[in-house]
Amino acid sequence: MSGPDADIAVVGLGAWGASALWQLARRGIRAIGVERYGPANINGSSYGESRMFRTACLEHPGLVPLAQRSRALWRQLEQESGTRLLEPTGAMLIGPEDGRIVGGALRAAREHGLDIEVVDRDALRRRCPAHEDLSPGHLAVIEPAGGLTLPEATIRAALDAARAAGARVITDTRVTALETERSRVAVHTAAGRVLHVGQVVVTAGPWLDQLVPGLPLEVVRMPTTWFTPEAPHERFTLRRLPVFMRELDGGDVLWGHGTLPGGTEVKLGLEDGGKHFRVVDPESLDRSVSPADWSVLTRRLAQAVPGVGREPSRAIANIYARTPDGQFVIGRPRGNPRLVVAGGCSSHGFKHATGIGEVLADLVQGKEPVFPLGFTDPDRFE
Ligand SMILES: Cc1cc2nc3c(=O)[nH]c(=O)nc-3n(C[C@H](O)[C@H](O)[C@H](O)COP(=O)(O)OP(=O)(O)OC[C@H]3O[C@@H](n4cnc5c(N)ncnc54)[C@H](O)[C@@H]3O)c2cc1C
Repeated sequence: MSGPDADIAVVGLGAWGASALWQLARRGIRAIGVERYGPANINGSSYGESRMFRTACLEHPGLVPLAQRSRALWRQLEQESGTRLLEPTGAMLIGPEDGRIVGGALRAAREHGLDIEVVDRDALRRRCPAHEDLSPGHLAVIEPAGGLTLPEATIRAALDAARAAGARVITDTRVTALETERSRVAVHTAAGRVLHVGQVVVTAGPWLDQLVPGLPLEVVRMPTTWFTPEAPHERFTLRRLPVFMRELDGGDVLWGHGTLPGGTEVKLGLEDGGKHFRVVDPESLDRSVSPADWSVLTRRLAQAVPGVGREPSRAIANIYARTPDGQFVIGRPRGNPRLVVAGGCSSHGFKHATGIGEVLADLVQGKEPVFPLGFTDPDRFE
């Protein structure tokens, strides 16, 4: 038996895998990252120019410390890469006080003493005139330190930092199987190459259960759309329309942000809410987009954000994997000593990418992650 190619292989180099590789390499661990497509590719979940960052984690208060740690690591990655990756424009969570968005944000903020501001409908409309059509009683939780992260730039920065710390990065190579041998794992690739490593971290996003069967993941196709306002107006700039999630009457959640500096497009989309988007097989996915992808959104936009335009100027089809309870799966399935998984991002995982990279490096080293993440146990559904 020849010696191992590395201590660890990270399979899938989207935001989570690239961050894990960076964290492993900076600890001096010999790590290889393997990615099926190119870095920052359009096929996975980490694509589309921007993502909302906030620590008011309405999805689960236990995620707040992870988001806070992620912010610190983002600053570190910015320093190492010399690239701005997290723009603190402020983040706005808007809707009825007892709704999922505002209610969840307030709960997280109270439990963790977050620095937030709560403003009523009239104050919000003065600050952000694009939100003029707010229903009575709706309010906004504003997190001044929230903002925009840049997915493609973050992945590139993490991969560069990982390489600089000694990691190997192999792109355009699909991993087809993981075979556990007595004291190591054989990582088989479509090119017929086999890498031998001590442990594998699988961060394959929507493809995770191809390599680790048995996880209850569904892949959802989620269109992302950009609009060019009918007339350029200050109300649509990022400063006046910072990144937001807004619960509309009826429960649909609109998300987006104003035009980036130098840009002309407002990014807007609807959250799935289990109603709008198709469950798909990522291997036979139709990525072409058509009016059916944005008709529900544009029907709501005419009233919710008037003046933004009737048809998108640009659209793409993203995918993500979701779990039955909407929480991630992070850990060692069935206590497997050679395998760590992280996936099921349920469309709220980008903001945690750098922190998850650190958690994965801890797990690989047999350390208890510093935050209790029992609610992400991959075996919790059994
Ligand atoms: C439209 C949209 C909007 C979102 N908005 C937000 C937001 O505002 N804020 C937020 O926090 N989160 C948001 N999310 C969620 C966030 O983008 C994801 O949680 C995050 O990008 C997940 O990253 P990942 O690394 O787990 O997965 P991915 O980015 O999908 O990476 C997985 C990688 O694994 C590779 N791979 C797969 N199979 C193999 C294989 N067999 N061999 C080798 N490589 C393989 C893939 O090519 C891919 O590059 C959004 C998601 C979507 C789709």
